Amino acid sequence: MRKLLRVDITVAGGEELAEQVEAWLSDRAVQGWEEAPLDNDAGLRFRVHMEDAPPAREFAEEAARDWPDLPIAVSVIEEEDWGAAWMAFFTPIEVGGVYEILPPWMADHDTGARRPILIEPKMAFGTGHHPTTALCLEAFAKAHEAGRITPAMRFLDLGTGSGILGIGLCRLGLTGLGVDIDPQAVWCAADNLRLNGVETAMTLAVGGVGCLAEGSRYDVVAANILAAPLIAMAPRIVSHVAPGGMLVLSGILETQAEAVTAAYRAAGLPEPVRRVSGEWASLSWQ
Ligand code: SAH
Repeated sequence: MRKLLRVDITVAGGEELAEQVEAWLSDRAVQGWEEAPLDNDAGLRFRVHMEDAPPAREFAEEAARDWPDLPIAVSVIEEEDWGAAWMAFFTPIEVGGVYEILPPWMADHDTGARRPILIEPKMAFGTGHHPTTALCLEAFAKAHEAGRITPAMRFLDLGTGSGILGIGLCRLGLTGLGVDIDPQAVWCAADNLRLNGVETAMTLAVGGVGCLAEGSRYDVVAANILAAPLIAMAPRIVSHVAPGGMLVLSGILETQAEAVTAAYRAAGLPEPVRRVSGEWASLSWQ
């Protein structure tokens, strides 16, 4: 039977240390983790589950190496526990004061004034746990607050993955298109669109920037891909942003942000707003 590796990292006291561990996890446990308070509120226990294969063993070794002073327990559990374990560790995440990202089994959760985004944590990237995704949603939240994103607008979500960014824009009333070169991602995104009831507001297609109709323009373009493809596609991406429209790029290491900015400057754009989270940066233009 398939086994899972469970890695528990215990952080006793020190909110700052817990935040550092959280930042470390957000780069390495992209699928998420569980956080539970220790008895007597003495700190936090972070729990990660991964299929028991070499990458999981490497993850556990890296944890021990990077956090030599923290108690780290590694155990193997049967796959039977997987359903429960999976559900336990996917916790709601609040982003930008506007969104709350939830798994489907928490659809009834009271999000207050925040807009819910339901994401089935499957194969596609984009559960909201990764800083690159959160940075894009934050940029939307800020633009929405400032009245620069309005429901009549159309968006392009380039590299839609789980569909999370497009769903976030649909939640603000927009309509648009999500594309991804990975058919599996588009399949997952379709599920998530239905889950959020936005399947008529957002269209999906397998493909990249090259599959878009020449001259088609979008009021909001978001692309959370990686620095190299974003640089290579700069002129094409810019050609699909409507005059006065908004462009948000993410998936960029902070060390790469200047090179990406230069490519978009060369494509005719002014200086972007740079947002940073850990080692990641997003660039946005309005
Ligand atoms: N938008 C989601 C997912 C980002 S992951 C989020 O913000 O969380 C990046 C996605 O882009 C992956 O699903 C990958 O398949 C897709 N991708 C990579 N290169 C691409 C390209 N050139 N054109 C379109 N999609 C691309």
